[in-house]
Amino acid sequence: MTPSALLAALAACLGEAHVLTGADAGPYLTDWRRNVTGRALAVLRPASRDEVAQCVRLCAAAGVALVPQGGNTGQVAAATPDASGTAVVLSLLRMNRVRALDLDNDTITVEAGCVLQAVQEAARRAGRLFPLSLGAQGSCTIGGNLATNAGGTQVLRYGNARELALGLEVVTPQGEIWDGLRGLRKDNTGYDLRDLYIGSEGTLGVITAAVLKLYPLPRAQGTALVALDGLPQALQLLQRARASLGAGLTAFEVMSAACLRDVTRAFPQQRMPFADLADGRWCALLELSDNLEPAQAQERLEAVLSAALEAGEAVDAAVAVSGAQSAAFWHLRESITLALARADACVKHDISLPASRIRAFVQSTDRALAQAFPGVAMRVFGHLGDGNLHYNLLPPAGARHADIQALVHDRVHAAGGSISAEQGIGQLRVHDLQRYKSEVELALMRRIKSALDPQGLMNPGKILAARP
Ligand code: FAD
Repeated sequence: MTPSALLAALAACLGEAHVLTGADAGPYLTDWRRNVTGRALAVLRPASRDEVAQCVRLCAAAGVALVPQGGNTGQVAAATPDASGTAVVLSLLRMNRVRALDLDNDTITVEAGCVLQAVQEAARRAGRLFPLSLGAQGSCTIGGNLATNAGGTQVLRYGNARELALGLEVVTPQGEIWDGLRGLRKDNTGYDLRDLYIGSEGTLGVITAAVLKLYPLPRAQGTALVALDGLPQALQLLQRARASLGAGLTAFEVMSAACLRDVTRAFPQQRMPFADLADGRWCALLELSDNLEPAQAQERLEAVLSAALEAGEAVDAAVAVSGAQSAAFWHLRESITLALARADACVKHDISLPASRIRAFVQSTDRALAQAFPGVAMRVFGHLGDGNLHYNLLPPAGARHADIQALVHDRVHAAGGSISAEQGIGQLRVHDLQRYKSEVELALMRRIKSALDPQGLMNPGKILAARP
């Protein structure tokens, strides 16, 4: 089938208005960080599972690759097509219905293009919590969250996106529909296909819907910002908060003073939380969620902070006294990615390490970077409670980003960590994956890919290098 015959068949299936070409396709072709711009034969906007399946079948028959896309907020250009202009982008944004809410089973069934925040709000209206939470929640989609196994700020208590999905509906690379929309908390009936598709970044099939777990809304929540002398003190505070608050500790985030300064510079309406937060200092953001009376929850949080101040672990602390203040604390944290996005040259690393190795890793790697790249400026923040740091930096003029990344990633690998804790591999970290995974692991991944997608048409060049 010629490209124009394919486009005509796709237009007959979706309607002309939902097969975008030329300038109309432009907004779908550049990644969020503006690192990569690709080209595409067209952008397809199906409105239903059956339309997705028809698009996939038509493309498979024509030998045309597909790049699934949700909110296009990913950090590794995984939803951006290559420069050949031969693939189509499959946008799921029109598939945004809540299909079912089962309060007796504490589940919600949603289509893949539902924006995360809309799912949180639907759950809240029903008196439940959908806990996945991240800075891009106003535009990222459930399909994208599952395809990247997104983490975010509540992993400490509720786990990654993987732990929040009970079932999936998927269109396979051949255009078959797998209805795995089961709301079961126990189901040991063979290989877990759900877990295979979660985190596969659109390389094994298109997720069209999911059954998600809901939780009771906590009766009380407390949020605190704590000023600290350094990262070692943040690790001590984490241990203390875990021991005292147990499962009530739903978030433990950290950010360096330099990151907070970038936020207040980029967004002057936001304020530094502590007047004397000198360079080199850090801030931790703690959240407690509990079923106690609100006043009791507040007391529990304050008791942890008082003990930390007395022990000299914390320099200063502020507990939010209203919902608005708590939102302002979170806004500071969640604005860091946006503030750093304005610094063109930022070199980003999304690493995780066992908690026991973080202190030594950061001390020795900060030192090694300063020696190898004099003038480097660190911009580190992240989900310390999960051992996940966005170990970012602003390099001195002339430094090669690839050399910096190799230094950091070699050390992460040597310390038994991961070079992509939550953002995935996409196209930006394909070479890293090849460098750090064993031959056996890579071969198993390639076999899975070729068993499920023998034509290699699902998001080629992402996770694994495209076939020549
Ligand atoms: P896209 O970017 O559109 O796609 C991402 C990948 O998923 C691509 O490989 C794409 O092909 C695939 N995909 C999308 N939809 C489907 C589908 N229906 N079926 C199959 N494959 C699909 N991530 C975290 O984990 N934690 C954070 O705290 C976090 N914070 C962020 C903060 C900001 C400000 C921003 C911009 C991003 C952040 N992210 C974070 C990145 C995060 O991965 C994405 O925001 C989100 O999970 C991706 O969803 P999306 O709908 O935008 O997917």
